[in-house]
Amino acid sequence: MVINVPTHVREIMERIEKAGYEAFAVGGSLRDLLLGKEPHDWDVTTSALPETVASLFPDMHVIPTGLQHGTVTVVSGGFPIEITTYRVDGEYTDSRRPDKVEFTRNIEDDLSRRDFTVNALAYNEKRGLLDLFGGRDDLENKIIRAVGDPEKRFTEDALRIMRAFRFSAQLGFGIEENTLEAAKKLGCRLRNIARERIGSEFMRLLSSDCPEKALTNMKNVIFEILPIKEIEKDRFSLVEKLPFDSSARLALLLYGKSSEELLGVAHSLRLSNEQKRAFAGLASPIEESFDLSPLSARRFLRHYGKDAKAAARMLVLLGEISPEFEALVLSENAKDPCLSLDALAINGGDVISLGLASGKGVGILLSSLLDEVIKDPSLNEKDKLIDKAKKTVWKI
Ligand code: ATP
Ligand code: MG
Repeated sequence: MVINVPTHVREIMERIEKAGYEAFAVGGSLRDLLLGKEPHDWDVTTSALPETVASLFPDMHVIPTGLQHGTVTVVSGGFPIEITTYRVDGEYTDSRRPDKVEFTRNIEDDLSRRDFTVNALAYNEKRGLLDLFGGRDDLENKIIRAVGDPEKRFTEDALRIMRAFRFSAQLGFGIEENTLEAAKKLGCRLRNIARERIGSEFMRLLSSDCPEKALTNMKNVIFEILPIKEIEKDRFSLVEKLPFDSSARLALLLYGKSSEELLGVAHSLRLSNEQKRAFAGLASPIEESFDLSPLSARRFLRHYGKDAKAAARMLVLLGEISPEFEALVLSENAKDPCLSLDALAINGGDVISLGLASGKGVGILLSSLLDEVIKDPSLNEKDKLIDKAKKTVWKI
């Protein structure tokens, strides 16, 4: 079987081979290629030691990514390629990381330490596709299966539990029975794993094409990840129907939880500030009620800001607003209405220089003008607002 490894990767492999060592394309890139997807990055595994690898590419940018783990990144044709020396992982004492890694001269050993059969494929021209664990069959049958004994592999490194669910969601694959049982049984070992790594895997799972099955399969494991007691059953299927990013999907999953619980989740998953902002804004129910008027739609847009489209879709899925109201929100949004102080045709400087207000009065005046403009968008012209402001000032 001939696999179309791109030129910039082949060149790297050929140079290593010319120096007398072995090199294979390996892991996720090969998996994606066999699935007919464009690999997003390429990994190479080699019998050469990292220092040797580094010395073979004096003409390229070489980054000593993780020398102690055997990884050197070489930038070839503008793309970073991770080149890792064949290794076997030493003992694991904490379900987290091997106490030491040992290099080996043997590609078979290296493939045995990899997590899932579909990630344990290797290819080069000389030896073709190496598939020691039935990875190709599993690709064909859409199955995530641990390499070797799943309990042992998840005990060694509990992050693999998250990876199993994440790959299953990304690829739309099922999880082989023993692998799934072991993942559920050993889910509590995720407590040993850095929260940011768990958070990153979980958010990748949420943003993938097929999160429903993976979330359903997680069972108790999900409560190791999210510090909450329960999730409404229908939410898993709704998540898959929300065509927005992981923050919006997380908000849908947990919509209506208390603000303490939401904060706890955001912290536990180590969300970025932007993720936190979107998640908290979307997951907290809004007090206001909306009728089917353009004014209501503009108030909705103002409340949710740039997350308004996600909010509208999410709230329709949850049965909180009607599809008609969503349509109205979208049509008002398309008119690009003025919804914030910076879109107002008058600013603080104007208000002060015209003597309309001063000090704290500036902000109060501008806010009340914005309220007027949201009610009647045609007011958003400087002259009209000055006029309005003059009247408003008399009222203050
Ligand atoms: P993606 O990059 O899309 O997440 P990937 O399969 O390339 O998928 P990486 O995290 O980039 O995943 O890892 C590259 C390869 O290293 C994997 O395909 C797998 O063979 C191996 N690997 C990564 N993490 C682990 C792990 N925790 N345990 C065992 N093998 C692993
Ligand atoms: Mg990868």
